[in-house]
Amino acid sequence: MNEIRVDSDDDSPSGRAEAPSPTIICVDCGGTAHLLTHPPEDGVWLVGEMVAYRCADCRDRWDLVLAPADE
Ligand SMILES: [Zn+2]
Repeated sequence: MNEIRVDSDDDSPSGRAEAPSPTIICVDCGGTAHLLTHPPEDGVWLVGEMVAYRCADCRDRWDLVLAPADE
């Protein structure tokens, strides 16, 4: 008997994420990209949350998904 388990909770752990860096290096031009997303009011970033950066040099936008803090 085959059983396929679909448990999406295991694939997308929820919980606290590491706070995103206020700036990252733009992959395209090497400039500095600044965090656009405002921190949550309670200061708790959640795993899987999407944050956006805007490059000051080429104006490109970068989206990052927050990873668990313990990795
Ligand atoms: Zn850039």
